[in-house]
Amino acid sequence: MTQGMGGFGSLKSLQIIGDAEQPLAAPVGQPVAVAPDEGRTEAKVIIVGSGPAGLTAAIYAARANLAPIVLGGYEAGGQLMITSEVENFPGFPEGIQGPELMDRMRAQAARFGALLVDVDVERVDFSARPFRLWAAGVEYTAQSVIVASGASAIWLDIESETRLRGRGVSACATCDGFFFRDRKVIVVGGGDSALEEALFLTNFASEVVMVHRRDQFRGSRIMQGRALAHPKIRVAWNSQVVEVLGDQKVTGVRLRDTVTGDERDEPADGVFVAIGHRPNTGVFRDWLEVDPKGYLTVHGETATRVDGVFVAGDVRDHRYRQAVTAAGDGCRAAIDAERWLAEHELAERATASAW
Ligand SMILES: Cc1cc2nc3c(=O)[nH]c(=O)nc-3n(C[C@H](O)[C@H](O)[C@H](O)COP(=O)(O)OP(=O)(O)OC[C@H]3O[C@@H](n4cnc5c(N)ncnc54)[C@H](O)[C@@H]3O)c2cc1C
Repeated sequence: MTQGMGGFGSLKSLQIIGDAEQPLAAPVGQPVAVAPDEGRTEAKVIIVGSGPAGLTAAIYAARANLAPIVLGGYEAGGQLMITSEVENFPGFPEGIQGPELMDRMRAQAARFGALLVDVDVERVDFSARPFRLWAAGVEYTAQSVIVASGASAIWLDIESETRLRGRGVSACATCDGFFFRDRKVIVVGGGDSALEEALFLTNFASEVVMVHRRDQFRGSRIMQGRALAHPKIRVAWNSQVVEVLGDQKVTGVRLRDTVTGDERDEPADGVFVAIGHRPNTGVFRDWLEVDPKGYLTVHGETATRVDGVFVAGDVRDHRYRQAVTAAGDGCRAAIDAERWLAEHELAERATASAW
């Protein structure tokens, strides 16, 4: 997707210009405050990503008078935009739809003066300050940057899986396992994450069938031992999912034997795809360190090896991968960025009450 030079009139998705005077009045799910873009391209802090980490960082940075720019990406709102019910985010006892939760976070960030622009950052130059970032043909500059570009679940990439996402197909047992109490579920994958997901799902499901392409797991011996010994877990070796069955909701999977090519149907109520996540680090790789799994490495709390560049959320976290931990991380990165700016006399010191 390309954008016109200089302005943002042609942006695909919602832009929000923050206005600290404006109350949070727009109905949830609607644009909050859409105004012609003022073309601001310089900021004390630029936040890359508009998932829970990026938007929480934006709320904190905006309330510290830093008037952040959020370059939120074409997948504005992040991973929760593709989920339905979120039941574990504190403060919503009845649960909340993922897109609605993200709309609320956007509204909150805009209310305090964050400028939200839904474009992907294509290139950065962190060699000197101000840091430079390019997105949709526009150059942005910032004294500090918070990278909150998240991670994407790797899917099987078959049509039926995409169609039934949120209707029995999931990539997160911690998030959705609870919905499968006394149901039979499939877990696709053979690494440590798949084994962990399968074991977690035994807390709810009546039966967990692990589908793996090979005749042995890749995961650690300890995890393998626990999974193979569990009375609720069964393994379909040498099998791959060629179709997720079901019209409005999952009813099973069609499996192909990777040795014989034979196909058979396995009935189930849910399918958990656990074949990995891909952190969105491409544009930062020349500047920031990544760990062996490709996640950004932090030095201390949220700092990176580039002074003034901070990270938050799933782009650095392959362990917890939750909205609430990403949001917490966004808060920490914003506080660290504000303190760093103040120490370098690049920002007015926020008052304690701003946090
Ligand atoms: C199907 C599903 C259901 C889930 N359910 C739950 C749940 O019930 N409860 C829960 O706590 N967690 C849930 N999660 C996990 C949760 O969504 C993530 O942990 C959380 O969204 C991570 O937040 P984040 O801000 O770090 O990253 P993300 O949400 O991944 O957001 C990343 C952001 O970065 C942007 N971006 C990426 N690259 C660029 C770039 N080059 N330039 C600019 N922007 C960029 C994207 O557009 C996006 O806005 C679920 C995840 C999935 C996939």
